[in-house]
Amino acid sequence: MHNFLPIAYFQKNFVPFADAKISIATHALHYGTGAFGGLRGIPDPQNEKQILLFRLDRHCQRLSHSAKVLNYNLPPDKIQNVIVNFVKKNNPATSFYIRPFVYTSDLGIAPRLHNIEKDFFVYGLELGDYLSPDGVSCRISSWYRQEDRSLPLRAKISGAYITSSLAKTEAVESGFDEAILINSQGKVCEASGMNIFIVRNGQLITPGFDQDILEGITRDSILTLARDLEIPTVERPVDKSELLIADEVFLSGTAARITPVKRVENYELSQNRPITEKLRDKLTAITENRDSNYQDWVFPISVD
Ligand code: PMP
Repeated sequence: MHNFLPIAYFQKNFVPFADAKISIATHALHYGTGAFGGLRGIPDPQNEKQILLFRLDRHCQRLSHSAKVLNYNLPPDKIQNVIVNFVKKNNPATSFYIRPFVYTSDLGIAPRLHNIEKDFFVYGLELGDYLSPDGVSCRISSWYRQEDRSLPLRAKISGAYITSSLAKTEAVESGFDEAILINSQGKVCEASGMNIFIVRNGQLITPGFDQDILEGITRDSILTLARDLEIPTVERPVDKSELLIADEVFLSGTAARITPVKRVENYELSQNRPITEKLRDKLTAITENRDSNYQDWVFPISVD
């Protein structure tokens, strides 16, 4: 069980988390017609009256786009305003994760997105490491990532996570920590809730936007950091066999941050990961507001 933050935003009000409850007839519960975001925040290590959220603007923009796909107009500034007030009301004392969610809130049957009530809620939980920072073992899933022609993959649609759930459980129940999904073209796509990077001969490689990936905000941050650190980067299709012989492999996501991969199937990877560690150290310093070059990635919220 998680430690949930005490206050949630629900039905346009801030209420105790325990009171934020939906009906069993809620449309989105049946049809997967929700979409979510996921942000991380920490109390500012340098200022006890401040909470820091990583790339708040980008998260609000992506959720607004997901809402649009669900036929729901929810501007990014409205989401941002709710999240800022949510953080002020909760004033978390440790590292935490915020889960904003848009969904068809109507009590009615029949899958559709038109002529149906929608709503938006936010809750949060304390969250340390989501995956082991020492590294994870990965199974290549027998479940393929969906294609954008059948599911809008740029949006974080809740129903799409059935594939992630199947893949993750398949991996864990066969002794691995995480799953890597292949896309419909047979190329490496991403993990159950993270993007994937490999390093070969000093070059940082990750599948591009034409590979049915989620447009991860951590992925975007890593590509920018790598370019600034003069690490050569390329976005291109990645073959499964490249995972087995890569010098380094890591996963990236808001919850997982940068998580090294130590084994893919039964292929051990090197424990020497200079590029992964360099990027991870840099990202940690930025999220803790210790790097003045990237201050615009960290949104400060004053708390009492
Ligand atoms: N892929 C999937 C399927 C995800 O759920 C996530 C987590 N949001 C990511 C990638 C990583 O995205 P981000 O870095 O924006 O958290």
